[in-house]
Amino acid sequence: MRKLIFATGNEGKLREIRAILSDLGFEVLSMKEAGVHADIEETGTTFLENALIKARIVCRETGEITMADDSGLVVDALDGMPGIYSARWLGEDTSYRVKNAEIIRRLSGVPEEKRTARFMCAAACVFPDGRELTSVQSFEGRIAHEEHGVNGFGYDPIFYLPDRDCTSAELTPEEKNAVSHRGKALRDMKRKLEELSAQGELS
Ligand code: IMP
Repeated sequence: MRKLIFATGNEGKLREIRAILSDLGFEVLSMKEAGVHADIEETGTTFLENALIKARIVCRETGEITMADDSGLVVDALDGMPGIYSARWLGEDTSYRVKNAEIIRRLSGVPEEKRTARFMCAAACVFPDGRELTSVQSFEGRIAHEEHGVNGFGYDPIFYLPDRDCTSAELTPEEKNAVSHRGKALRDMKRKLEELSAQGELS
């Protein structure tokens, strides 16, 4: 079976990508399973640059098709912060309770229509022969006034979805996956891989 390496150490992401790509006929391996233990520095200035940096390095090291993603929360009233720094913002070890409280504090007094935000996800797939597939997708919402919900992770408890009158931390994993930035980007990648496969370009 053709291997596909997913350049992440995150088990949750790995489970998601395995579920989404399950019927494409790839054996999906983590970086660790593929024998790559490098701590890759995300030096890009966009989500897509960072996804490409990770996928290119791991593809070069393994000689296998490699996929990577990079994601984060973009808050309009904070000039796009925390953005590509979402994981590191206020320090890697700072709890999301503190990070979320700080975003809410910085948005105090900001009117509802200016509390717009989005989760972004860039996915990149790099082939040993140099071909590259990319997809950048978003998930629109607003910054809530307090945390709600216990599902998800990170900034989910303050990511309010006006259409559903709840936060993304109040969605089930399946509900979130159906509309989320990462769900959309990974399904788009799957479509692109299916197209290549149908043209006989994957074997
Ligand atoms: P990375 O994509 O692993 O570099 O991590 C991006 C960071 O963005 C995470 O550590 C979270 O802080 C944030 N993030 C990305 N996607 C989500 C999401 O779906 N919910 C909550 N936070 C997210």
